[in-house]
Amino acid sequence: MSDTQHGQFDALAALYAMGALGEDERDAFETHLEVCVECVNEVKSLLPVTHGLTHGALPLEAPAALRARVLGEVTGVTPSPREAPAAALLDTRFGALEGSETFAHVVEPPRRGAGLLFWLTATLLVAAAGGGGWYVSELDRQTQGLRANMDAAMQLAKRAELELESVRSAAAEREAVLAIVTGSDVGQLELTGQPLAPRASARALWNAAADMVVLATGLPPLPAGDVYQLWFVLPDAPVSATLVKPGPRGDATVMLKVPDAVTLPTVMALTIEPAGGVDAPTGDVYLLGQPAE
Ligand SMILES: [Zn+2]
Repeated sequence: MSDTQHGQFDALAALYAMGALGEDERDAFETHLEVCVECVNEVKSLLPVTHGLTHGALPLEAPAALRARVLGEVTGVTPSPREAPAAALLDTRFGALEGSETFAHVVEPPRRGAGLLFWLTATLLVAAAGGGGWYVSELDRQTQGLRANMDAAMQLAKRAELELESVRSAAAEREAVLAIVTGSDVGQLELTGQPLAPRASARALWNAAADMVVLATGLPPLPAGDVYQLWFVLPDAPVSATLVKPGPRGDATVMLKVPDAVTLPTVMALTIEPAGGVDAPTGDVYLLGQPAE
């Protein structure tokens, strides 16, 4: 290679690295690359830059399978799964390799000038495969995004289902409550807020079939891990009626079956107890109701 010869190609390396040369120019430049280490180095040094311009980020390494696939696309030969595909393909196309060298060997600089084009092409292919690696990771990112969207949609659907269910059960509950409170033989007991819950109150209503509904309002928020428990306070011992979990505004509507052992009306009390309730009241009394004499 003479200086004169190199001179006319001096400015082409950058265009070549960007794939911006016309066909004739490219052929000429590649022929020159066979004999000019300077141009090979120039193109090589520009590859990361042009690749970065194309893809926004320089990938570190492409998976071997992807590399082989890209090589297959470029060379038009489908790699067979058993061979070292990259080496075999490059062998076919450029005849620059002997035997079954691996791709790792391929990217090492050859000793002879005749291998320069091959080496450069291999470098280009690695860069292209790197682009494939970027594409795969982008695809993976998009897939994860879709999956997240689907999870969110599933959660929305589940929540809608739960809301519908709670609307249904609320309607059923309202009907049951109405059946009790509008019956002909309704008994009732007022429960009043105790010092710990001065704004709380409740009314228990029951019918001859021992169906009871308790409507409470103004209950203080429960400490985490606690629950309200309603009691029939019989002369012998209190009998648990039900657990009460007020809504965010301190309201609660509970229905229960009055136990056979309980003769109404009787004293009723609401206490605060550990979650799950207890057999006998242990906590403070929040509501208390005493039948009028
Ligand atoms: Zn040159």
